[in-house]
Amino acid sequence: MKIKAYRFPGVYLFVDEEGNKKIATKNLVPGQRVYGERLVKFEGEEYRVWNPRRSKLAAAILNGLENFPIRPGSRVLYLGVASGTTASHVSDIVGWDGAVFGVEFSPRVLRELVPLVDERRNLVPILGDATKPEGYRALVPKVDVVFEDVAQPSQAKILIDNAKVYLRSGGYGMISVKSRSIDVTKEPEQVFNEVEKELATYFEVVERLSLEPYEKDHALFVVRKP
Ligand code: SAM
Repeated sequence: MKIKAYRFPGVYLFVDEEGNKKIATKNLVPGQRVYGERLVKFEGEEYRVWNPRRSKLAAAILNGLENFPIRPGSRVLYLGVASGTTASHVSDIVGWDGAVFGVEFSPRVLRELVPLVDERRNLVPILGDATKPEGYRALVPKVDVVFEDVAQPSQAKILIDNAKVYLRSGGYGMISVKSRSIDVTKEPEQVFNEVEKELATYFEVVERLSLEPYEKDHALFVVRKP
C-alpha cells in the first residue's frame, strides 16, 4: 500500500494492497467519514479514498482531466452540493485557507450535510436555488471556481448566470452534464455540442471530457471566464 502526490496539488494517488490505483484526498477532519468511503492512514496522515462511481469529479480525474483549477486556498462556489459527497473532497483540497460555498435547493438533502460542517468549517451549506444566484449574495464572495452538478435542463445558463455574479475574471467553471437531463430524444454528442456552444457565448471552453465508463452519457466541461 502506498500514497503519493498526484499531478494536481491536494490530490493523491493511492495504490491499494492489491495494486489497484485509486485517488484520495487528505482528510481535513481526521476521523470524519462522509459517505462510507475508506479512510487510510499513511506516514502519519489520514486520507479519504475518492470513489469515481459516487463522484463525477473523481471520474473526470481518473479519466485524465488535464485542467483542474481547484487547488489549496481556492474559493469554490459549488452548485448542487447535495449531502456533500464530492464537496467534502473539494473541501479537503482547498484546505483551511480556502472555502467551499455549497448551494442546494432540497432541504432534506442539505440536512444530511449540516452535521459534517460543525468540524469541516471551510464548507458552508446554503439552502438556495442555483437558478436565482442573487438569492445567496449575502453569503458568497467572489470565487476562483464555480462547480456545477445540478442535473437540470438549463445547466449551461445556470453556470453563466452564477459566473456573472460570483466568478472573478480569469476564474474557472466546471460543469458535469448529463445528456438525458437536457434532452432524452437526442444523441448525447449532439446535446454536448449544444451545451458547448452555449458555454462558448460567455466562456472560453478549455476542456471537454467523457465520464464513461463511470457515468453513462455524462461529460465534464472546464471553462474559463475571460
Ligand atoms: N454534486 C453532488 C455530489 O457529487 O456529491 C451530487 C449532486 S446531484 C447529481 C444534483 C443535486 O442538485 C441534487 O441534490 C438536487 O437537489 C440539486 N439541485 C437541482 N437543481 C438545483 C437548483 N436549481 N439549485 C440548487 N440545487 C439544485
